[in-house]
Amino acid sequence: MARRCASALGVVAVPPQISALLTPEQLLPAATVAALRRRLRAYYRAHRRDLPWRRSRDPYAIWVSEIMLQQTQVDTVVPRYEAFLRRFPSVQAMAAAGEQKICEAWAGLGYYRRARLMHQAALQLVAQGSTTLPAAVAALRALPGIGAYTAGAIASIAFSLPAALVDGNVERLLSRHFALSAPPRSGAGKRLLWGLAERLQSRHAPGELNQALMEVGAMICRPRQPLCGRCPWQRSCRAYAEGEPHAYPTAVAKAPRQKLFVAYAWAVDGDAVWLTRRPRAALWGGLWELPSAQGASAALARAALQARVGPTKQLLGELPHTLTHREVRAQIFAVAAPVQAPDEAWRRSAQPLHAPLHTLARKAIGLVLARARLGEAA
Ligand code: SF4
Repeated sequence: MARRCASALGVVAVPPQISALLTPEQLLPAATVAALRRRLRAYYRAHRRDLPWRRSRDPYAIWVSEIMLQQTQVDTVVPRYEAFLRRFPSVQAMAAAGEQKICEAWAGLGYYRRARLMHQAALQLVAQGSTTLPAAVAALRALPGIGAYTAGAIASIAFSLPAALVDGNVERLLSRHFALSAPPRSGAGKRLLWGLAERLQSRHAPGELNQALMEVGAMICRPRQPLCGRCPWQRSCRAYAEGEPHAYPTAVAKAPRQKLFVAYAWAVDGDAVWLTRRPRAALWGGLWELPSAQGASAALARAALQARVGPTKQLLGELPHTLTHREVRAQIFAVAAPVQAPDEAWRRSAQPLHAPLHTLARKAIGLVLARARLGEAA
């Protein structure tokens, strides 16, 4: 990438280590704000993707799309979003459906906690006598599952309130444009990013401005290959002037992941297999899986499983799984089926992959079923 001189472009060059000491007002003077907004909006109007949720100003529809888009790719969300809205077209329809039905409609999107919290929020709204979402950031944030980003998105897009937002795409775009040395998830980084996003906000079409920020972050200022030649902010971008877009956002040193061992029971009962529902307060709370036990080693996890379900027979498979803070090693053992369900958190399932499973449970069941089809196990 060609190195450019920031000062020749009328931009104050700031050494990266200094940027963390500056305030949003110093990094983004009032005289520059209007030009940045204008260039963002012009890009968005000419190049924005035609996505189904962009055709709606319905707060409920915007809410559903924003929750689905957290941690899930746009291409995966598009068909699910339309099907979900056909099945649950309003806050009342979502509240009237049981949590189980919402989780079933969520299948394929992952991170089911988002669906459960959305259902709780719908119940809360209906209990308050509301037919839609509130038109205020503080009231939105008081609902389960709605954080600062989602509240900003709903408030600005659905209600035209000048509310700022910062998602991963905005983080990257702002970190590079202003060459921020503070990691985005650090206290200093968050303060700077939110401060800059607030300074960029305007009373005129705030939803459009936020969507323009996210669109340029997603489509132009891409993580691996930023398209600086097509960027509306290239002339004033400090990372581009340094020739170092990839140096931003800066990273925080990660703590090593904890190791966790899980033993699963594969208890076949006729044409079904036994599943259990995890306790609400636990990791993957409320989702289904094979009966399980955990331990600090594979042997301890197996011993704990035997204490729960009886003797284990052969090992049917094992697999690794990585969580944000944990490295999981799972083993699946054949066991005898229980004579009857030990409690209401147990059930037989002839189609276990259709149950609302967490990701590791889905992988474990898929592994045993695939091997059974190949005649290797079960
Ligand atoms: Fe990102 Fe390049 Fe645009 Fe700078 S010029 S904001 S690095 S795409």
